Amino acid sequence: MKVIVIGCGRLGSEVAYLLYKHGNEVSIVDKCKSAFEILKPDFKGIINEGDALSQETLKRAGIENADAVAIATSSDAINLVVGRIAAEVYHVKNVVSRNFEPNFSELFEIFGLEVISGTNWGASRMEEMILNEKFRLMYSAGSGEVDYYEVIMPETFVGNLVSDLHPQPGSLAIVSVTRLGRSFIPALSDELEPGDHVHVSATHEGIEALRKIINLRK
Ligand code: AMP
Repeated sequence: MKVIVIGCGRLGSEVAYLLYKHGNEVSIVDKCKSAFEILKPDFKGIINEGDALSQETLKRAGIENADAVAIATSSDAINLVVGRIAAEVYHVKNVVSRNFEPNFSELFEIFGLEVISGTNWGASRMEEMILNEKFRLMYSAGSGEVDYYEVIMPETFVGNLVSDLHPQPGSLAIVSVTRLGRSFIPALSDELEPGDHVHVSATHEGIEALRKIINLRK
């Protein structure tokens, strides 16, 4: 896939690197030449110095043939305008903009742009961690019919198998387990350990049933 990343800062440089490592043709833009110094030495994408608000820069970066554009400057206004130009003028199918200010998110929505909001996401995750919530919502699929959770097995949760976590069929699936920083896809017969991060996709009923199972086995 041909992807343009706008803004080679903390987020843009990481996105560009990931996309490049996963086999995409990446072209990255920043108005400041020194910004590219942040790129990892094995990044071999195309580097374009220039202001993304200029169509000359966007064309030089290959926007006329791009499959996707990720816009990651630190300005909501720039991310919004460049997102609009990419979608409306150059008909790029997949445009994702970075959103900082929660007040701006409505504008992105009005213009039909997909956003990544580090502020909202970070605030929710921090609140969950501060409150020591064992069930963390990671992602909602579709209109929220199925959610993706990370569930941390409590200290008291000893000697239970993956199969013990399955409530009614069709309501929950165990996707992976992360133990001491390493992830694996578990078998139903695997034993879970306290502190395991279990990733599940579940309906509302499935996650409520899982809460009960975990509380009952405390
Ligand atoms: P950061 O806040 O670390 O994610 O960095 C944001 C990056 O976006 C910086 O390197 C800025 O130079 C870059 N940037 C900001 N405005 C523009 C623009 N109009 N065109 C291209 N790059 C920009």
